[in-house]
Amino acid sequence: MIVDVLIAGAGGAGYPAAFRLDKAGLKVVMADPKGELGGNCLYQGCVPSKTLRELAHLYVRAKKLLGFNETISFEKAQDHKDFVQETRFKQHKQELAESSIEFYKGEVEIIDNHHAIIKDEKGDVQVEYKYLILATGSEPFKPKFPGSEYCITSDDLYKYKTSIRKLPKEMIIIGGGYIALETASIMNALGTKVHVLVRSDRVLRGLDSRLVSSLLSMLDKNIDIRFNSPVIEVQKIGDKDEYKVIYSEKSEKKEISANLVMLATGRRPAYPKGTEKLGLAIGKTGIMVDETIATNVKNVYAPGDVNGRSMFFHSAVRQSLVSAHNILAGTPIDYMDFQSVPISVFTIPSIAYVGILPEEAKRRGIDIIEASYPLSKDSRAQMYDEAEGEVRLFFERGSLRIIGGWIIGIDAPTMINEIGIAVANGLTARQMANYADQHPMSNESISYAARSIF
Ligand code: ADP
Repeated sequence: MIVDVLIAGAGGAGYPAAFRLDKAGLKVVMADPKGELGGNCLYQGCVPSKTLRELAHLYVRAKKLLGFNETISFEKAQDHKDFVQETRFKQHKQELAESSIEFYKGEVEIIDNHHAIIKDEKGDVQVEYKYLILATGSEPFKPKFPGSEYCITSDDLYKYKTSIRKLPKEMIIIGGGYIALETASIMNALGTKVHVLVRSDRVLRGLDSRLVSSLLSMLDKNIDIRFNSPVIEVQKIGDKDEYKVIYSEKSEKKEISANLVMLATGRRPAYPKGTEKLGLAIGKTGIMVDETIATNVKNVYAPGDVNGRSMFFHSAVRQSLVSAHNILAGTPIDYMDFQSVPISVFTIPSIAYVGILPEEAKRRGIDIIEASYPLSKDSRAQMYDEAEGEVRLFFERGSLRIIGGWIIGIDAPTMINEIGIAVANGLTARQMANYADQHPMSNESISYAARSIF
């Protein structure tokens, strides 16, 4: 088959480009071994984990505000998660049916630049392409140590129709990134006793340390986080779901046991077989791309997790569209703004940020003015009795243009979008202060924060 564009992977980095290019009249073929659109995010990542998080948060709120004291059914929660995934799979199938995109269930294997094979379940499909979009995403990184095979990853916990449907009494999470903390928060809220083993002395590496310490001080104290605790070995005890994790703490061997051990030690880009034949430049985080999402090979684009620059679904979607626009024009007409991608940690409570934060501003020599508003004064935070936290905005001294902001506490992942739009468009403190945010919703705290410096 001869096509204009071959797209490997149908996640956030793959399908938005497919629809855009198809609409513009190009012949597009897309393949993914899952046979569904939505990638890892929908199959086993953001959508299922955030569904469970919403349910866990409902439970916490009902207990705290309404005196609800029954235990909940984890099976039912997982059923609802599957239902949400199913609904979205169906929605995507409908969208696909309304397009002329040819979609295959199978992996793409690269033969050379311009030729590939799709290993479809019904047989190999030979493809000759003008442009290639490599959107094969990422997979969990699993360090090897004795007994590591007993550990699950977040993919196992959240995947569609997972077999994990009984709430573990006790769980050990190995890792200190956002997946570790989010899962710890969710499972703790649902009733599991959670231990988190962090190798170093800090979680959420790379994030502004003030933001990290605020989050840590607000997390439920029942979550047992042990720092400087690298894992040595995992052992299975007997034939039931019981495991012993041996780790070191101050060069002393220690151990804890639980019914479930999860590895949350980061994700790595996933390359199709034969990728080396393309001669792509691979950097520290993945396939090297510039802001046009082009690689060093003229007709190959690599949006999303596979380039590792910003491993989030919404970032992948925008990068996918940038690729499509630049392919259509045949010359760079669209550029990705990596700086304005909002990032959230969906713990309970959550945090979110966008743009340049104080530590980064200092590194870059940008002088900033901070504006903040405490959520203890926010009406919606009061309604939920979740009044801890704040909105904080960072303006460049002089121009008063916003360069970044964070939210700690209620609705952070929703609210951050307003700040993100302001950052992406270089709004000033005055413009943000003059906006009449919807009352009585938490966004109000953003304009209150902006007004605080006038
Ligand atoms: P992104 O957010 O960057 O789209 P995801 O990890 O969500 O990343 O999605 C990537 C998709 O690519 C997954 O659904 C995965 O099944 C698919 N994939 C991985 N390897 C291949 C391959 N060789 N050919 C086709 N699809 C692939």
